[in-house]
Amino acid sequence: MASSPVIVILMGPPGAGKGTQAKRLAERLGVPHVASGDIFRWHVRQDTELGRLAKPYMDRGDLVPDDVTIAMVIDRLRQPDCAHGALLDGFPRTVPQAQALDERLAEFGWCVGLVPFIRVNEEVLIRRLAGRWICRKCGAVYHSEFRPPSRPGVCDVCGGPLYQREDDKPETAKRRLQVYFERTLPVLVYYERQGLLVEIDGEQDIDEVHQALWRAVVMAVGTPATAEA
Ligand code: AMP
Repeated sequence: MASSPVIVILMGPPGAGKGTQAKRLAERLGVPHVASGDIFRWHVRQDTELGRLAKPYMDRGDLVPDDVTIAMVIDRLRQPDCAHGALLDGFPRTVPQAQALDERLAEFGWCVGLVPFIRVNEEVLIRRLAGRWICRKCGAVYHSEFRPPSRPGVCDVCGGPLYQREDDKPETAKRRLQVYFERTLPVLVYYERQGLLVEIDGEQDIDEVHQALWRAVVMAVGTPATAEA
């Protein structure tokens, strides 16, 4: 098991702490963190054709159409740094995306190893999202209530300015949650039927969530060859 590619799909609604956990888990697994939202934001910043197409959907908190999203993520998985696998974050978000991913992975002789789902209840999610601030320079994440910076609006790590993501503002955050529950819950059912879903309590502290995720991955796929000692 240890030498086959590890494909882990980290799932959880916006505000579940998925991004933070994904970075940490990918690092420990020794595989790239492939976050579809980050790739889209990169395209928007670079003002590429794909970025211009995706932006209106992202600004409304809606999903970008499946065909472009699937092509973008599959293209990323074909890069040489994904030869030992990847940790997917934010993809798949619809059943057609999940089916397309299975088909494309099968073409490489790969399959999904595990789908951890970070569960957090809805009121907690809205409170978390509405207070989230991010450093424009280094990407550090703060929360006005749970993890405030020492000086308002200034990053403790690098002194950069903090901003609130357009789609974290309360109305868009609610819309993102609604979209999540409508479109993405069926994806959980899809993986549950394949016996790949494990539920992780996302209301524990960050380290406990990480340890629970790590234990689940090791149980499902063994300790990957690429993992940190
Ligand atoms: P995220 O950072 O994962 O919340 O993604 C930000 C936005 O990017 C989402 O609200 C969508 O507009 C778009 N997006 C990211 N991943 C996907 C996906 N798998 N399918 C469709 N749209 C996506």
